[in-house]
Amino acid sequence: MSYQYTVIGAGLAGASAARLLADKGNKVLVLEKLPHIGGSTYDFTDDSGVLIHKYGPHIFHTSDKEVYDFLVRFTDFNGYQHKVAAKIGEDYCAVPFNIESVSKVYGKEKAGEILSEAKKAGAFPTVSVLKLMQSDSPLLKELGEYVYNNIFLFYTMKQWGKSPAEIDPATTERVPVRFSEDDRYFSDTYQGLPVNGYTEMISKMLDSENITVKTGVNVDVKVIENKIYLSGTPLDGKLVYTGETDRLFGYCYGRLPYRTLDFEFETHNTDSYQPYATVNYTVSEKFTRITEFKKMTLQKINGVTTIMKEYSKEFTGKDGEIPYYPVISDESRRQYAEYKALSDKMPQLILAGRLADFRYYNMDAVVRRVMDVIAAETDGE
Ligand code: UDP
Repeated sequence: MSYQYTVIGAGLAGASAARLLADKGNKVLVLEKLPHIGGSTYDFTDDSGVLIHKYGPHIFHTSDKEVYDFLVRFTDFNGYQHKVAAKIGEDYCAVPFNIESVSKVYGKEKAGEILSEAKKAGAFPTVSVLKLMQSDSPLLKELGEYVYNNIFLFYTMKQWGKSPAEIDPATTERVPVRFSEDDRYFSDTYQGLPVNGYTEMISKMLDSENITVKTGVNVDVKVIENKIYLSGTPLDGKLVYTGETDRLFGYCYGRLPYRTLDFEFETHNTDSYQPYATVNYTVSEKFTRITEFKKMTLQKINGVTTIMKEYSKEFTGKDGEIPYYPVISDESRRQYAEYKALSDKMPQLILAGRLADFRYYNMDAVVRRVMDVIAAETDGE
């Protein structure tokens, strides 16, 4: 059997690519080294009946209608709107820090003054914490410092091993300070989790007569003189590669930096473990956050709940370690550009996904990227 396309990785990027190619009549082979499909979105029902996310919490959100329309072919979404709080002492404080949080800390009157300063300073409705700290207004500066110290500093040190000032500013901009009452984590048009989970959604994406999926297959992908070899055999057709690009090229320009995660799952015999689906530990504890899954899957299960604690650390490439977050900096961007230049010389190779593109993509950005890449690839078909 020969395939026009081989896709490495059955995560969101690989499955989207496979489906879009298959819909255009191409025969596609998907190879996944894990024993299951879904990549890092993989979820399954644990012994207590809770649908848990094995590789960290994934909440889908997008304002990109085309991305939504594509995914909604394979699943309905449950409409869950993510809410997060930081636990500071015994108190819970909304994240992103919003106008209600400002009132809680500074009282109603001062919060009113802060709001009008924010409007004057062009910081309304949202502003990044780093910009707030550099504000000319002493009130806004003070607020910026409060949020930096209570929400960002310790959490970012745990998550990245560096302070917010030392990491790519786009990372902390993902969670701005909000001068409105909106207490949702995301303000996108479409939000939610697939009603029966990501694994089922991805399984439906891959369910096409033009797609063959093989899991638990660890192929050795090698590039020799701009040609691709899969476990020693020259590849016929094209390759969509969604894994780490440094690995694909034998680390010839050194290892790209990633963060990996350790997860601790606990099942508790209680209806509810915490008041929010996700609680961030921004001033205490070694873990960054605790997620209680049934609060986002919206399952009605009494008397039992499953939670997960996340610990972040440097990815060293040791056996069994999984790279989750690319560590973006000027240096790592330059290093990635060297790898990208190699891939640009290979018309047989298509890179897409958080790992392959070395970008801190959200799920919708992964699908958008794949849609664009495959549209360019199949242009005219
Ligand atoms: N962040 C933080 N405190 C928080 C939430 C986020 O310091 O309570 C910072 C931290 O550096 C984090 C980044 O903002 O890595 C982006 O947060 P996001 O929730 O988007 O991260 P993800 O869910 O992708 O891990």
